[in-house]
Amino acid sequence: MKVKGSESMDTALLKEKIQKKSKELGIDKIGFASAAPFDHLAQGMQESKELGHTTGFEHPILEERIYPEKIFDSPKTIISIALAYPTLPSQKPERVKGERRGAFARASWGEDYHFILSRRMEALIEYIKSEVNQEDVAFKPMVDTGELIDVRVAERAGIGFVGKNGLLVTKEFGSYVYLGELITNIEFPVDAPVDYGCGDCTRCVDFCPTNALLGNGKMNAQRCLSYQTQTKGFMPKEYRKKMGHVIYGCDICQQVCPYNKGKDFHLHPEMEPSVEETHPLLKPLVTISNKEFKERFGKMAGSWRGKKPLQRNAIIALANYRDKTAVPLLLKVMKEDMRPVMKGTAAWAVSEIISESSEELIHYFTEMLEKARKIEATTKEEADLVIELEEAIQTLHEKLPKNPEEGSYDD
Ligand code: SF4
Ligand code: SF4
Repeated sequence: MKVKGSESMDTALLKEKIQKKSKELGIDKIGFASAAPFDHLAQGMQESKELGHTTGFEHPILEERIYPEKIFDSPKTIISIALAYPTLPSQKPERVKGERRGAFARASWGEDYHFILSRRMEALIEYIKSEVNQEDVAFKPMVDTGELIDVRVAERAGIGFVGKNGLLVTKEFGSYVYLGELITNIEFPVDAPVDYGCGDCTRCVDFCPTNALLGNGKMNAQRCLSYQTQTKGFMPKEYRKKMGHVIYGCDICQQVCPYNKGKDFHLHPEMEPSVEETHPLLKPLVTISNKEFKERFGKMAGSWRGKKPLQRNAIIALANYRDKTAVPLLLKVMKEDMRPVMKGTAAWAVSEIISESSEELIHYFTEMLEKARKIEATTKEEADLVIELEEAIQTLHEKLPKNPEEGSYDD
């Protein structure tokens, strides 16, 4: 389809008007890219999939991620937008005696960015439609759940460059930006890519705690803590300690990036974080009701997988704090929570927290685990639970004082 009369439309002038209007609409950066295929990405994406480096959260149809014409009739331009988000909370989380706090990664602070970006894009579409006043102009807005790869669109549109951490890095706001894009059948003059990049820097690759970044701009997303904190099953043990106290996402490869130094923008009221949401007390989160979870965290991007991954991660964070005050709660989870992942993670956490000097507690807890492992495992989660329980028993056993006879033999 060709937009009727688009030959006579002064798209350069319209672009200028859109750029100006975008500021009024609360868009921090805007760029225009051609809607040509992204076929240079196809091989790398196929390889990542074959190597098992993808997460399954990506749009499943590769062709639709590469060819805009597969998802939109007569695409001519993709308009990319960026909104800067805050990186420091406006107040410090209050210290509560006997309580530890977890944290959400910064991209999850405030209202879910999908809604914020969608509103901005709808307003932009309305504006363009009112300027063009033609019925056959069309738009398809997308935020990261869409088909196209936002960072690649934004890179082509001159918003920034894709760093070795796989994120879009801008000069003005660093990588602390949310991205969205609109495909349209209006053919606009396009912007040039930026002339800056990573250069010799490898800080994100060096500091990534799980070696998820491969150094060539690609990543093994399965190894990324951001992904691992969003899964619903047991978190593999190798990631538990590395997760620290961040119960959703991971900011390390952003925090170490030189382009992010000193960046903290508070430009959008709906992104302003409430510290009780971004740094919640961990113990209450472990047993939070569905209703309260929805009320407190339902608007945040970090709640999209429901409460279970966050509760599991809250238990891991308590173990990482070695929080002894959490042991009674964890024993309660072991006994009363019906979810195998919660039971097993609690068992692991207690076995980590209990110290060698608490011999009585070790015996008590080992007995409890011995009883608990005698379940008939009918699902994978239950089978995984049994393994977790056995491993926790082993950890506890290793904490007991060694029997001097053990390992010796009589002639
Ligand atoms: Fe590594 Fe964290 Fe960055 Fe993932 S988000 S690549 S785990 S530093
Ligand atoms: Fe690029 Fe260095 Fe930033 Fe990584 S930390 S994205 S290598 S500039």
